[in-house]
Amino acid sequence: MTSGATPGVTAPDSPLSSVEAYRAAILAAITPLAPISLELAAAEGCVLAEDVTAAVALPSFDNSGMDGYAVRAADVAAAAEDSPLTLPVTGEVAAGDIAAHRLAPGTAIRIMTGAQLPAGADAVVPVEWTDGGAARVAIRRAAEHGNAVRYAGGDATEGETLLTAGTRMRPMQIAVAASAGRAAVTVRPRPRVVVLSTGDELTEPGSPLVPGRIWDSNSYMIAAAAREAGAVAYRRSGVPDDPKGVLPALEEQLAHADLLITTGGVSMGGEHDVVKAALRELGTVTFRKVAMQPGMPQGFGVIGGDGAGGVGAKRGVPIFTLPGNPVSAYVSFQMFARPAIAALQGADDLSLPSVRAKLTGPVRSPSGRRSYLRAVLDGSKVTPLSGQGSHQIAYLGRANALIVVPEWETRLPADDEVEVLVLP
Ligand code: AMP
Ligand code: MG
Repeated sequence: MTSGATPGVTAPDSPLSSVEAYRAAILAAITPLAPISLELAAAEGCVLAEDVTAAVALPSFDNSGMDGYAVRAADVAAAAEDSPLTLPVTGEVAAGDIAAHRLAPGTAIRIMTGAQLPAGADAVVPVEWTDGGAARVAIRRAAEHGNAVRYAGGDATEGETLLTAGTRMRPMQIAVAASAGRAAVTVRPRPRVVVLSTGDELTEPGSPLVPGRIWDSNSYMIAAAAREAGAVAYRRSGVPDDPKGVLPALEEQLAHADLLITTGGVSMGGEHDVVKAALRELGTVTFRKVAMQPGMPQGFGVIGGDGAGGVGAKRGVPIFTLPGNPVSAYVSFQMFARPAIAALQGADDLSLPSVRAKLTGPVRSPSGRRSYLRAVLDGSKVTPLSGQGSHQIAYLGRANALIVVPEWETRLPADDEVEVLVLP
């Protein structure tokens, strides 16, 4: 594993990086995945790498917007509640009927929603305005020209661009592509994220716990967060704190990962920080302190590439080494890995929504670092949770938002308006 230094994420001994500078350096080092053609049903959550245009006008033929009677507006102009007008019903046209129906003047044709408007008709009288008659229909209300008619091209014209490259295929966009006649689309796929948790203390949930051990929560949490961000995520739990074991464990995953995320093993504690030790050797992953709390120790780089670039080159895999404390790992994921997942799809739509809200109580924050305090956002009010330790997973489980306390503030009183990031 060699090469591909990450621009802007170098200089490990420099002072704290700002959150923005660190994130920008990460995004600059990410190359979007190559586009592939996917069957429409499989494209959900992927990001379009082409424009989708309408193969035909939408709708492609004039049709009825309601169940009722196709008529000529002029023939029903005199219809009124107290003097209903009666027309003979000469036929029926249902959705999907491809026969060429023609309306004779002074008659009505029963018509269903989505059915082709018969030639000669220029309005639809909704069934609710009639007696619903089969052979003859009594109409109690005049229908204007074009009433309940959906004209060809009223939604989109033939050849019109319906979806542009860079759009994420959510259910609505899947429907648009299907309506445009597309069976497959060219997209950047969901990134494959492999999450590895490290630590000799980790035990799989479900196994008995002995004193000194904890159940691994990070690998489950980060894999779930990656899925929530649109990735396909796999987890590999409990990589031991063995310096010789870390690189092989990572290398094993390279072939089927577009992004690697480790947790743990990157603090300042020396020999037990095996992730840091192993990856430092490679020279392509940089460890630095980011001016934030939680989540100060961060590592990012690209591993496994051959550095050649171009066709046939072995693509490097970006790697995040997140801190081990669960809250730090979670906040770091949301701040850095989530936008990176979007960048792998050539998108930038995954930043957490930011709102303003009023503090219900005072908060504190270390000077020179931006705090992301776990909180409950309720309308225009935000309540900081009392447990702000980065190991306090139980409190994290009660949060739906993060209060952002700027680097230059050390305390904010109740009633202050603050920035709040809404958690997904
Ligand atoms: P580390 O970054 O490895 O020094 O770990 C920092 C703290 O996070 C320690 O208290 C670890 O036990 C805890 N920790 C590390 N990995 C996990 C994990 N996968 N699940 C829960 N806690 C963890
Ligand atoms: Mg550890």
